[in-house]
Amino acid sequence: MTDTARTQTDLERQIAQASQDVKQAPSPIDQNTTQTAVKDIVEAYPAKVGKKRAKHIVVRDPNQPEQTIDANVRTTPGIITQRGCAFAGCKGVVVGPIGDVVHIVHGPVGCSYYSWLIRRNQFRARANGRNFVNYCFTTDLTEHDIVFGGMTKLRQAIQEAYDIFQPPAITVHSTCPVGLIGDDIQGVSREMSEKLGISIVAFNCEGYKGVSQSAGHHIANNGFFKNWVGTNEAAEEVEGYTVNLMGEYNIGGDTWEIERVLEKCGIEVISKFSGDGSYDEATESHLAKLNLVMCHRSINYMADMMETKFGIPWIKVNFIGVNAFAKSLRKIAEVFDDPKLTERIETVIAEEMAETEAQLATYRERLTGKTVFLFVGGSRAHHYQELFADLGMKTVVAGYEFAHRDDYEGREALPNIKIDADSRNIEEIHVKQDPERYKPPFSEEALAKMEENKTLKDYKGMMPDMGEGTLLVDNISHHELDVLIERFKPDLIGSGIKDKYVIEKLGIPCKQLHNYDYGGPFAGFRGAVNFAKDVDLRVNTPVWKYVKAPWLN
Ligand code: SF4
Repeated sequence: MTDTARTQTDLERQIAQASQDVKQAPSPIDQNTTQTAVKDIVEAYPAKVGKKRAKHIVVRDPNQPEQTIDANVRTTPGIITQRGCAFAGCKGVVVGPIGDVVHIVHGPVGCSYYSWLIRRNQFRARANGRNFVNYCFTTDLTEHDIVFGGMTKLRQAIQEAYDIFQPPAITVHSTCPVGLIGDDIQGVSREMSEKLGISIVAFNCEGYKGVSQSAGHHIANNGFFKNWVGTNEAAEEVEGYTVNLMGEYNIGGDTWEIERVLEKCGIEVISKFSGDGSYDEATESHLAKLNLVMCHRSINYMADMMETKFGIPWIKVNFIGVNAFAKSLRKIAEVFDDPKLTERIETVIAEEMAETEAQLATYRERLTGKTVFLFVGGSRAHHYQELFADLGMKTVVAGYEFAHRDDYEGREALPNIKIDADSRNIEEIHVKQDPERYKPPFSEEALAKMEENKTLKDYKGMMPDMGEGTLLVDNISHHELDVLIERFKPDLIGSGIKDKYVIEKLGIPCKQLHNYDYGGPFAGFRGAVNFAKDVDLRVNTPVWKYVKAPWLN
């Protein structure tokens, strides 16, 4: 390593320590205020509901390493939740971003709207020029179809999409009404696949299939795995450090910033599930030597299945936040265990950190000490804590919309999670080793060493990263959010579109972290600078003092 690289690494160590200190710091909110807020939230509900919700609200106590939280259970009817449906999770989140494939929504146009331009997925057309992410393909079911069945319409829609767009594959997604009338979308897709000679995959992702969009992610993973992963058997092995990027959806161009840095390090991305992902790449994804799992919740199923079938190990990474990105790159270096790659990664980290730090310093001065609430998805509420900590901002309340207990408590909780009727709704694929293509890319000794160091297949969840007295709230309701805003008065809330304007009417800036409000990328080194600028503009604008929150009357 060069001397320059060594000096820059010292700078990096200082920044990393500062960020870690912010993350682990106790909550700056007075503990009486926190305890009273929790008590008042729970007591406002009818007794039975309050008892249930109390299990979803936890005050972090690092002296109790075994703390648990309830998650992935049905929202009590009547409570205003931020969650989406299984269809939104399947089509909207995981399958939709594959950009050169036509995704047909078989259902009423209202459901279809939810899948169209709602999420800012981005895709770069490959040599064939196909890019369909901005289209909304729907069978537009009406009352007549609900009474007499919509399968003819679906056949016609597939044919029409094929004739006009000539896609390499088509996906079909059913919404609630289709599940209720029982249209055989699997049968129609099989029949049309034989007729047209392309892959047509049907996803029975009716909105009611699970307690949240999480069920849709699982259904999407199963569909990808059964129909696309490894189906290009003629694809030849790729030399070098190859990876699949999983659970990264290219919102605001995040994937491209991550890829820029990976490429600079000499790491090749074979396939992406699913931001900027393409059909051909998905069929060759079994060739990668390592799977990088960003969003643990939405894609851990596929990482596990690929490991069982092809022997590809996986690691949990986080590319949101300067220090998080550096840590994740080092984890990749540890897996490949090649001094040349390690040196290259260190040089890239040093260069990128120096460049980023020069731009972040000013924003950090203006943002240090500010407090944040985070209610996002099934990993983002954890990931973004790192980036806020890089800016000196402390996350005092965080929770997921659709996570399971392992996303909070770590994968060690997996054996203790009870499978309930809602989870049993989702097909569980039993995967076996592929006798010819099961080829772990590392030696048994290397794998054993990584197992011992907990490098592979490990995720500790969000809880250990939250400081004493901070609050974890699973599937937060509007009532709970109102109380917490009023009592804690955070400087910023990172959340989604459903609650954004409610929050802003209360005089608190809200940063959308599902769609980024037309900003981005926010991942990686350059993304952190974009984010800092955006957050500074929101938090430090004087406009908030003109919004009169109800409790100020
Ligand atoms: S009707 Fe069902 S599938 Fe459509 S948006 Fe509502 S919950 Fe989702």
